[in-house]
Amino acid sequence: MQISNNTAVSIHYTLTKDDGEVIDSSIGHEPLAYLHGTGSIISGLEAALHGRNTGDKFKAHIPASDAYGQIFEDRVQVISREMFDGIDNIEVGMQFHADVSEGPGIVTVIAVEGENVTIDGNHPLAGMPLNFDIEIIEVREATAEEIEHGHIHGAGGHHH
Ligand code: ZN
Repeated sequence: MQISNNTAVSIHYTLTKDDGEVIDSSIGHEPLAYLHGTGSIISGLEAALHGRNTGDKFKAHIPASDAYGQIFEDRVQVISREMFDGIDNIEVGMQFHADVSEGPGIVTVIAVEGENVTIDGNHPLAGMPLNFDIEIIEVREATAEEIEHGHIHGAGGHHH
C-alpha cells in the first residue's frame, strides 16, 4: 500500500549525522509507527516518505531547516542558580523542562560558574542536517478513531 495522508505507517530507521555517527535507530526494537500527514515526525522525513510503498528502502538527507531547525543564539541564557529551586547539584548536561518563549521545552545546562548557570533551549539536533536510512515495514488505512486522535493505536503507537 502507498503512503498518503491518514495512513498508519510503520518504519525502521537509522538516523546518523553527516560524519556517520549514529544518533538513533529502531533496529532491534519495535518499528516507529505514526499517522502520516499530521506533522508528528519531522517535515523533511514526512515529505520523503510521501508516496512510498510497503517494503521500500531508501536513504534521505534532510537539511536542518526541514529537521529541528536552526540554532537560535537567544535561546542560550545565563540564569541564577537560585532559579533551580530545590536542586542542590547543577551539572553540565542536566536537562530540565522549562517554559521558554516558544512554549514548554527542554533546556540543557551547558556551563556552571559560581552562581551563574548557562542553559541552552535549542533542540540538541538543531542546526544539524540529518541522514535517515529507512525501511517501510507496513502501511495501512488509519481508523476513524486514530484520525480523530491524531495518532495511531496498537503496536508502536498509543495504548489507551
Ligand atoms: Zn488515541
